[in-house]
Amino acid sequence: MLASHSSPIAAIATAPGRGAVGIVRVSGPALSALAHTLCGRTLKPRLAHYLPFLDDAGQAIDHGLAIYFPAPHSYTGEDVLELQAHGGPVVLQMLLARCLQAGKEIGLRVAEPGEFTQRAYLNDKLDLAQAEAVADLIDASTEAAARSASRSLSGGFSAEIHRLRDALVRLRLLVEATLDFPEEEIDFLKKADAQGQLLALQAAVARVLDLTQQGALLREGMTVVLAGQPNVGKSSLLNALAGAERAIVTAVAGTTRDKVTETLQIRGVPVHVVDTAGLRDSQDEVERIGISRSWQAIHEADAVLFLHDLSRMHQVDYQRDDAVIMDRLPEPARREGRLIHVLNKSDLVSQAQIMQATGGLSESTHAGAVVLSAQTGDGLQALREQLLTMAGWHSVPEGLFIARKRHVLALIQTQNHLQSAQQQLALAENAALDLVAEELRLAQQQLSVITGVFTADDLLGEIFSRFCIGK
Ligand code: GDP
Repeated sequence: MLASHSSPIAAIATAPGRGAVGIVRVSGPALSALAHTLCGRTLKPRLAHYLPFLDDAGQAIDHGLAIYFPAPHSYTGEDVLELQAHGGPVVLQMLLARCLQAGKEIGLRVAEPGEFTQRAYLNDKLDLAQAEAVADLIDASTEAAARSASRSLSGGFSAEIHRLRDALVRLRLLVEATLDFPEEEIDFLKKADAQGQLLALQAAVARVLDLTQQGALLREGMTVVLAGQPNVGKSSLLNALAGAERAIVTAVAGTTRDKVTETLQIRGVPVHVVDTAGLRDSQDEVERIGISRSWQAIHEADAVLFLHDLSRMHQVDYQRDDAVIMDRLPEPARREGRLIHVLNKSDLVSQAQIMQATGGLSESTHAGAVVLSAQTGDGLQALREQLLTMAGWHSVPEGLFIARKRHVLALIQTQNHLQSAQQQLALAENAALDLVAEELRLAQQQLSVITGVFTADDLLGEIFSRFCIGK
């Protein structure tokens, strides 16, 4: 749980380490006196002042820019003071300590992770989907994810949800009015209209759900497992897939991947590749945790790539070793068509040999096979497309907004309630109308969970505690 929402808070807002500029940010209900103490003068609203930041003896800790944003025109909706100093860890710690000392009387304390953004949410500066987009923008591991997060932050996703909610409210008004006057003849007409409206609403929810699923994929990415004997070309394939498009792997909580996992991107979708060669027994505790997580990832993988070396596939001992690996692959991946056989080194063999190898495979495994050469890049594009299809990706990133699993789940729930309402309405009996009204109410509640109108406190705590400090 986050602490009291009323006391003033302060934090270093820039990333730890050395940089040209570092920022200490303070937010609270009334900060003008504190700003005067720290800066030695009255600050004009939203104007950059170059001045010394003063310690309690009136000596300069550093010189820099001070900007004062009086409420409500600030990020948090409260008074905000931003001190831009030199970006050294010691100078910023000194400045933060000085702020806390000077602000002791007004109860100034260090901010918890995400607390600035939480205040922005509580003061209606952002809704919940936008607040989440702040974290997603900071954590974005591909350019497409960053652009989509920015679109969600500026309200693109929320606007879609509001449109659905407005249509739903209109429908509820209609149904509830009919409930109040059951004898009216016009009732049937209204009901007919209600059904049409409900169908249109269901179609609209389905469209937004699809976009949301794409947005969630852009945020979470897909997990791909590489399996195969030594020297079949697993690392070569990984490098070829990564190409110049290796994703930026950040060390932010929640996005950190383990040693045995590499993240790359295909058309902006983050792809987390787990190499089974890295999954050997280990004595190292941290590594062991990473390895057990990777096995988990394999079981939940969106795709398993089983690599084969075309130039050796005719050898009996090679075939025997392949059968052993096949046995170790997780059952669900094999069963649900998430297994792709990758026949590598096509540059080394003849067309006839390829035909023979692929023919043999599809009979024995009923799985798709991709022929390629990690060396020449031949066939690589087909594999990329197949991976995206397996993950359910069919969009171009342009125009997408970023989303989370919880948004997808809320929209599915909305869909379920609308479906139940539709079934009740189809019965065409007045008696069922109160059930229709109830289902519509529940559907609206699910939509509100996304933007945060109806959101449990523990969920809020969970969302904001994953932010970095100072945001
Ligand atoms: P891993 O042990 O499965 O990771 O295999 P590597 O990626 O290290 O590849 C083993 C050897 O096969 C290396 O010498 C690669 O250069 C070679 N190799 C990988 N892919 C190809 C390919 O498509 N064509 C050819 N001719 N050689 C390849």
